[in-house]
Amino acid sequence: SRRPIIAGNWKMHKTIAEALALVQEIKEAAAGCDGVEVAVCPPFTALAPVVEALRGTDIAVGAQNVHWEDKGAYTGEISPVMLRDAGCRYVIIGHSERRQYFGETDENVNRKVKAVFAQGLTPIMCVGETLAEREAGVTEKVVRTQTEAGLAALTGEQVAGMVIAYEPVWAIGTGKTASDEDAQQVISFIRGIVAGLYGDSAAGRVRIQYGGSVKPENAAGLMAKPDIDGALVGGASLEAASFTGIIRAV
Ligand code: 13P
Repeated sequence: SRRPIIAGNWKMHKTIAEALALVQEIKEAAAGCDGVEVAVCPPFTALAPVVEALRGTDIAVGAQNVHWEDKGAYTGEISPVMLRDAGCRYVIIGHSERRQYFGETDENVNRKVKAVFAQGLTPIMCVGETLAEREAGVTEKVVRTQTEAGLAALTGEQVAGMVIAYEPVWAIGTGKTASDEDAQQVISFIRGIVAGLYGDSAAGRVRIQYGGSVKPENAAGLMAKPDIDGALVGGASLEAASFTGIIRAV
């Protein structure tokens, strides 16, 4: 009963012209894929043009990061108000690249999640362990800490309506996908954490994606697992053929 969501995280790729060419192709190829929600997350500079190009379609647009304040002296930052104004529905928060390279903390992730909800936007909150953490056997501990801290002080309704992305860091951009079973196991564990915090109803409704080297060839197996509600796609979302191949695999 949870509608899967396939979201493309374009990361730092695509000029405005390239973005418009890509969404034109996605729009045509994804027409008629009704059982699955589709979203694209371009860089900030392409958000408004992409929203305009997708007007009248069911394809949603998301941003890749946000600040937690609505305005102020924060040079270089973009606020939830600005993202809503640009026409975004989703905001990726706490991606591992932001945690690794830009000092994103669990506390800031939680601030951003709350700020995004306050503007009526929907967070896609990312969690996931590094290779060293998986090898040390602390995957569940890491994922629990990130999930509990990120979801602190929300309402059950908010959690039910949001998206969580489980992205094992060792599977991002490496070509190494988690096995269907490993991804299902951790995602089911995350759903259990949500149940403990916000109850079975919220846990049954929250959509939890898998992310990390998802391609048309491995998407069907992952999406067939009972707790995996879609994918957050990096590299394979940069070309219409592979992105729509993943959408069709759901
Ligand atoms: P890749 O699909 O390129 O591994 O990236 C995954 C990711 O980080 C999506 O947010």
